[in-house]
Amino acid sequence: MSNIEEIIYKHTLINAVKHKGKANNGAVMGSLMATHAELRSESKKIAQITSKILIKVNLMDYELQKSELQKLGGIKEKKPVKEKGLVDLPDVKGKVVLRFAPNPSGPLHIGHARAAVLNNEYVKRYGGKLILRIEDTDPRRVDPKAYQMIEEDLKWLGVKWQEKHIQSSRIETYYEYAEKLIEIGKAYICTCKGADFKVLKDESKPCPCRELSVKHNRKLWDRMKTMDEGEAVLRVKTDIQHKNPAIRDWVAMRVVNDKHPLTGDKYKIYPMMNFSVAVDDHLMGVTHVLRGKDHLANSEKQKYLYNHFGWDIPVFIHYGRLKMEDVALSTSKARQGIDEGLYRGWDDPRLGTIRAIARRGIKQKAITELMMEIGPKISDATVSWKKVYGLNRTILEEISNR
Ligand code: GLU
Repeated sequence: MSNIEEIIYKHTLINAVKHKGKANNGAVMGSLMATHAELRSESKKIAQITSKILIKVNLMDYELQKSELQKLGGIKEKKPVKEKGLVDLPDVKGKVVLRFAPNPSGPLHIGHARAAVLNNEYVKRYGGKLILRIEDTDPRRVDPKAYQMIEEDLKWLGVKWQEKHIQSSRIETYYEYAEKLIEIGKAYICTCKGADFKVLKDESKPCPCRELSVKHNRKLWDRMKTMDEGEAVLRVKTDIQHKNPAIRDWVAMRVVNDKHPLTGDKYKIYPMMNFSVAVDDHLMGVTHVLRGKDHLANSEKQKYLYNHFGWDIPVFIHYGRLKMEDVALSTSKARQGIDEGLYRGWDDPRLGTIRAIARRGIKQKAITELMMEIGPKISDATVSWKKVYGLNRTILEEISNR
């Protein structure tokens, strides 16, 4: 009897002894798969062997079943193996569509690695696709070198995407949805001064622009294309009495005078993050959105768009902050340090970028494992270098030939 046959034989005997001499095929298969994860990939073959063994066992009399089982060590069963590491994603219905959506303001850092790795792992677990979406709709926060650096960093992390989009090439789509929103009376052009709007908003009062007709807004929208920065914005109607003032009639579109590194001066009106993100998540069929809890209010804002358009809301998962001992994670601080000559470059080991981590000699697998261990939990986490080096050592030991 082969090793596998013996395992199956034992499970069948256990089941038979527990059920008055009659083993049940489904129950035996279930207990095999739960306790021997390594057999799952060969479940067809296992099912065939099991049914043969099951016939044999069910033909034995009860006493023989019991003594056979004794010979194999009795009824003690292996505890089901709990999947180690990454927790399951909630509300999965079949395949998933996930996205990793960084701003191209610099290379990726350890905080990005979390979103990238988790999304990647979940696509591997459930099937479906991972979308890489470069969110470059703020012309002032684009570092042209970042487009390339992000892809390099993702490759280092072993993250594979099946689709890629760059938001600055989708501006017409955002216009289309802005116009639709105006047509259904759920957005308006606001020409109030920012400070005046704020006073009204803080008192939960609508500004005069909110009541103007669709026709009027259509005209203003056309005019907005030739306006200067600060003269007008497109606002989404929300609840002007919402308990969080930031959610009250948030800005969807604005005029930016600066040139965009990729599209130059082709466009003057740019979507704000919440608008382009929600439109894209919907159009791209995203099922689950993994984002930091600093985006909680943004998710709340975006829900208004989903409801105005009658779209299904994806599952939002907000994870906690991730701090890395002794490193400056913010891209802007790192950039400033590099410009001032404090750091040698993006891969300076004192930084928290992926390339700096790689330069410290940390292996990709250590970072992947770390992220899977932390998972998408909402509580904050601080990662110590001791932890990272510990994981790294285990991996180095695994791969080094002793
Ligand atoms: N580009 C946004 C960011 O990196 C995406 C946020 C989101 O996940 O929706 O902050």
